[in-house]
Amino acid sequence: MTDRLHTLDLRFQDQPGTIAAYLLRHDDGAALVETGPGTTFPMLQARLAEHGLTPADLSAVLLTHIHLDHAGAAGHLAEHGATIYAHHAGVPHLADPERLLKSATRIYGDDMDRLWGEMRPVPEDQLIALDDKDSVPLGDHEALALNTPGHASHHLSYVVGEACFTGDVGGVRMPGETHVELPLAPPEIQLEAWRESLTRLRTAIDRHDVSRLALTHFGVYDDVDAHLDRLDTALDAAGRWAADTVPALADDDEALREAATEWMRGLATTNGVDDEAWARYELANPSWMAALGLRRYWQKHKAPPSSRM
Ligand SMILES: [Zn+2]
Repeated sequence: MTDRLHTLDLRFQDQPGTIAAYLLRHDDGAALVETGPGTTFPMLQARLAEHGLTPADLSAVLLTHIHLDHAGAAGHLAEHGATIYAHHAGVPHLADPERLLKSATRIYGDDMDRLWGEMRPVPEDQLIALDDKDSVPLGDHEALALNTPGHASHHLSYVVGEACFTGDVGGVRMPGETHVELPLAPPEIQLEAWRESLTRLRTAIDRHDVSRLALTHFGVYDDVDAHLDRLDTALDAAGRWAADTVPALADDDEALREAATEWMRGLATTNGVDDEAWARYELANPSWMAALGLRRYWQKHKAPPSSRM
C-alpha cells in the first residue's frame, strides 16, 4: 500500500516541509489524510493535479484532529463531494466551526486570516464520526482508527497497510532531521494521556507490522522505534519543564514564552538542529505556543486543586 502513499507538501506560508496532506491511491479511487488549512487549499488542488486528480476524485478524507492546520480545508473538500471522517468528539465542530474558530482566535488573534484562511462548515450528511478501532474502507484496503489523545482529546491516528498516520501525537520532525518536538498548543495538552497514546501506538505498530510513520509536520520516516523513543524522551522533558518553570512564571506571559523558546531551542541544538532547520521547526510548531499549552496543562491537571483553573 505504501507505494501508493504520496506526501503532498502544502507549502504553508510559502515554505516547504511544514504541513503535509497525504494522498492514498487505492483500487477504487483515492483518499486523503489531513487537508491542511484553508489558506493552502489552492496548493492542495495543485498537488492533486500533479497526480491527475481533483478534489472531486477523493472518496474519503480522514482527519487526525480538527485543528486548523490539519482540518481547515475539510469544508472546501466537502463542497467537492468528499466524505469527511473524524473523531466523534471533533465532528460537531466540523459541522459548526464557530467555537473552534473562537478558540483559535484567542491564540492567534489578528493572524487568523493570514495563517489559516476560511474554515467552511461540513454538511452533516458528509460527516462520519469514528471511535477507537473503527475502520474506514479504502478500496482494497482499510484505515484503522486509533484513539490517541494527549495533544488533543479528540485525536485519532490511522494505520493503513504498513504506514501509521500520527497527526500531532507522533510529534513534529523536519525532513533530514532526527530531532522530535512535541506540538504543545493549548488548550487540551495532557501529557499522561499522550504517554498512554504512545504505548497504544507502539502496540498497534507491532501488531500491524507498521514500518513507516507519516507525520503531518512533516514527512514519512522509517526509523519507527528510534523516532518513538525520541518522542518518549520529549514527553519526559516537557513534564519536567512544566514542573520546573510554569509555577514560577505562570503570571508573566512574556517571560514564560521566552523561557519556552530557550528551552525548545536548547533541545533542538542538542539534537543537531542548525539555525535554518530551527526556523522550519518554529514555523511548523512555534515554541511560544508550548508556553501556553504547558501552562494550561499545568493549571488544569497538576497545580494544587485550590489554584486550578
Ligand atoms: Zn494540533
